[in-house]
Amino acid sequence: MPRDRADVVVIGSGAAGAAVAWRLASRGARVVCLEQGDWLRPGDFASEQHEFEASVRRGRHALLPNDRKREEDYPVTTGGDGPCNIVMWNGVGGSTVHWEGHFPRLHPSDFAVRRLDDVAEDWPISYADLEPFYDANDRMIGVSGLAGDPANPPRAPRSTPPMPLGRSGEALVRGFEALGWHWWPSDNAIISRDYDGRTGCDNRGRCNFGCPLKAKASADVVYWPKALVAGATLTVRARVSEILVGDDGRVTGVGYFDRRGDRQIQPARVVVVCCNGIGTPRLLLASKSARFPDGLANSNGQVGRRLMNHPSRFVEGIFDEPFEKEAFSGNPFFSQEFYETDRGRGFVRGYSLLVYRPLGPASVAWGDSEPVPWNYLCGTKIVRKSYSGLHNLRLLLAGCETEKIDQGRRSNAEVVTLAAPRAFGRQMQVDTREAAFLVQRSRQVRAEERVVEGPEANARLQLISSRERGDQIGLHARR
Ligand SMILES: Cc1cc2nc3c(=O)[nH]c(=O)nc-3n(C[C@H](O)[C@H](O)[C@H](O)COP(=O)(O)OP(=O)(O)OC[C@H]3O[C@@H](n4cnc5c(N)ncnc54)[C@H](O)[C@@H]3O)c2cc1C
Ligand code: SF4
Repeated sequence: MPRDRADVVVIGSGAAGAAVAWRLASRGARVVCLEQGDWLRPGDFASEQHEFEASVRRGRHALLPNDRKREEDYPVTTGGDGPCNIVMWNGVGGSTVHWEGHFPRLHPSDFAVRRLDDVAEDWPISYADLEPFYDANDRMIGVSGLAGDPANPPRAPRSTPPMPLGRSGEALVRGFEALGWHWWPSDNAIISRDYDGRTGCDNRGRCNFGCPLKAKASADVVYWPKALVAGATLTVRARVSEILVGDDGRVTGVGYFDRRGDRQIQPARVVVVCCNGIGTPRLLLASKSARFPDGLANSNGQVGRRLMNHPSRFVEGIFDEPFEKEAFSGNPFFSQEFYETDRGRGFVRGYSLLVYRPLGPASVAWGDSEPVPWNYLCGTKIVRKSYSGLHNLRLLLAGCETEKIDQGRRSNAEVVTLAAPRAFGRQMQVDTREAAFLVQRSRQVRAEERVVEGPEANARLQLISSRERGDQIGLHARR
């Protein structure tokens, strides 16, 4: 039996879907959100389990859905000459459940890249248009940080003070100071003090694995409780397979499969697709009809094209100075010394250098950036030595362009719903030049910090999903 018609159906309960559902429900709209995954409940977080690092790497909490293979996931095949690893979380809160909570804003110049630098396209809106929404989101999320960064437009005082630098952070700051480079405490979507009924961070540093204290903001923690109070309905284990269109070419609702695998129809006046950079084109392309044979919103053939990923590289060194056994959360500081275009560098646009924390001892042992030699006691010694002082510095880049996402072939798990997407990545020349420049700069910081050993060129290009994790050339500072 068809359900009651909603004013708005929101597909996906992640960062975008949760905010839209809250906002519209608060304004009196009848909102139904359909989410293919489920809630993570206390005890479900990888961070609460002893084998947390292992499960994030290989198990049910892995960052890559292809490794995780939970029922609510769908496989993403990648290809092309710059294939990207796609990371995301499918469940209430979406990828913010697994995000790190680094919370930078775009710069005004990012909205006018065609006009200023003759690359890509300008946005149809400006930073000023977006600013009130940045501010509103900051208040909901609860941001730790410090207003007054000279590299960014002024912003309101942050909700809580910045995350601690720690001794290892202070060591890297000395490197930036010695070079005369910009650095500033990062904005983090992690509250350093109690805020809005949530408990401040305890700095135990497992944020990527789900924050059991709710200090790290994720959409399930900050938006959904308020959206539900405002009257939004959230249906979990509901995988939307098609957006339905009437004879007049306007949407009439969506078709989805419920937790039993039965097909259901949810009629709606308006459909908002919030399935992230992969899931959204996947669904639009799957919603074919006689009237829209190439899928919805695709009259120009651009759906599923031009997704920008972020390359990531890490540079690592070992310090001669003992750091405390710190495991702080978040990204303590960043540098935007090289953010804006300087044509003398040989490329346009720029990047951020970002200091962040280690994942944990097992990640060091596995060698997130450089494998530890595992022979008898030698390995454990190195791990102990490295982990106690490890933290990282990475660079945020506008990176690799994914040329095309298509529907691919159906996997077994997907036969009853919709085809699994394939993402073809293309590595752009500018990435390579920019990356080389960045690695050099990272090494400069390292040189200022009494690094006594470490791989000279331990840099790798890592491509991450549509998220802004942006990413990363990193300097792991190890003692
Ligand atoms: C490991 C990791 C670290 C990150 N770190 C940062 C960071 O430090 N800073 C930062 O700014 N960003 C970070 N991000 C990126 C950030 O999380 C994403 O940009 C953001 O969550 C995207 O929001 P979204 O609403 O578009 O999609 P998501 O949050 O991914 O939500 C999409 C939702 O749609 C659901 N869905 C998809 N298809 C369907 C369907 N057919 N039917 C029903 N439901 C469906 C999914 O299950 C999912 O819950 C990180 C992401 C990851 C994975
Ligand atoms: S360190 Fe802070 S933000 Fe990270 S998981 Fe622990 S309490 Fe949450």
